[in-house]
Amino acid sequence: QCVNACPCGALDYQREKGRVFRAINDPEKTVIAFVAPAVRSVVSSHFGISFDEASSFMAGLLKKLGFNKVFDFSFAADLTVVEETTEFLDRIREKGAIPQFTSCCPGWVNFVEKRYPELIPYLSSCKSPQAMMGATVKNHYAQLAGLDKKDLYVVSIVPCIAKKFEAARPEFAPQSIRDVDAVLTTTEMLEMVDLKQIRKEDVVDQEFDAPYKRVSGAGILFGASGGVAEAALRMAVEKLTGNTLTDHLDFEEVRGFKGVKEATVSAEGTEVNVAVISGLHNAEPIIEKIIQGEEVGYDLIEVMACPGGCICGAGHPVPEKINALENRQQVLINIDKASKYRKSQENPDVLRLYRDFYGEANSELAHKLLHTHYSPAQQSDLLGRNRRRMANSAFV
Ligand code: SF4
Repeated sequence: QCVNACPCGALDYQREKGRVFRAINDPEKTVIAFVAPAVRSVVSSHFGISFDEASSFMAGLLKKLGFNKVFDFSFAADLTVVEETTEFLDRIREKGAIPQFTSCCPGWVNFVEKRYPELIPYLSSCKSPQAMMGATVKNHYAQLAGLDKKDLYVVSIVPCIAKKFEAARPEFAPQSIRDVDAVLTTTEMLEMVDLKQIRKEDVVDQEFDAPYKRVSGAGILFGASGGVAEAALRMAVEKLTGNTLTDHLDFEEVRGFKGVKEATVSAEGTEVNVAVISGLHNAEPIIEKIIQGEEVGYDLIEVMACPGGCICGAGHPVPEKINALENRQQVLINIDKASKYRKSQENPDVLRLYRDFYGEANSELAHKLLHTHYSPAQQSDLLGRNRRRMANSAFV
């Protein structure tokens, strides 16, 4: 009953660590992990690691667990910013469906498909960072490494239960090969660490692996509410003015835990009005207005289902201290501030991926692999399929 009632699919929750251990122990498989920014903020407090060591400790920890390659999810966040901001600027220029809603939170996308399908034209067509990373690894990395995509086992490590549901969507499994084979929550990953009895002193710090090694601070900010909008603004202002943005990179008005935040940015005579919403109930008054044909006065709206964004995702351990969520947010802000690259559009590894593989943002190949179409029909098909899958599978 709960699975049917849950508006964002988060209760369709299958634990997958047994399956991941089996893949790690299979000599035929190259097992690849990519890890979301919000996970390292929890790992940093769990192990008592400072923010400037959190990324390298995270990579070392996953190698110790047995993953062959470890990529940084923030790379996919950078890719999402470039695709989504390009789509947004095109919609402004071509007078398309505005406001554009972000689509990187699968809990939010499920909510739209189930409760407000009229809103689907306003959703960005971009896949989430998880789905973009899966498609890029199974196509670009497989080609680069000379591997058959069937021999790659791709594991996403995230704070999010709804992402398990997303990875199982049939449209993200072309020719019946899933782009993301398994999704572990932060809690499941920490359980695997406990099962293998890995201690802090056993972990050797490492860099994330090429070719998706470098990430921007903007991509890191995706882990908290306002991060997607802030990253998009850092790119949109540059594109609208034609000038490199060197200062005023921080859009502090969209950070924090308030349910609805707003920012207005002026660039060369164009005003961009942004709303940032976290917690699905906070989105409903704005959605109702749009459906009634009323003007809401926003051009871009970020929605994250969890209050405060992914740092509060249900796949994280329950916070034990009163200020734990603020601390998780601060880790991401500190990493951004200390980053060599602070804008997604200047990440050299993203630029190289476009040069060598995708061509340009929103190209035909980018549309094939990085964009999708959402619809209520797909959702109901998937719910039925997932119910059958859950009925037939033993939890591991
Ligand atoms: Fe998942 Fe919550 Fe983050 Fe949305 S906000 S992607 S539901 S953890």
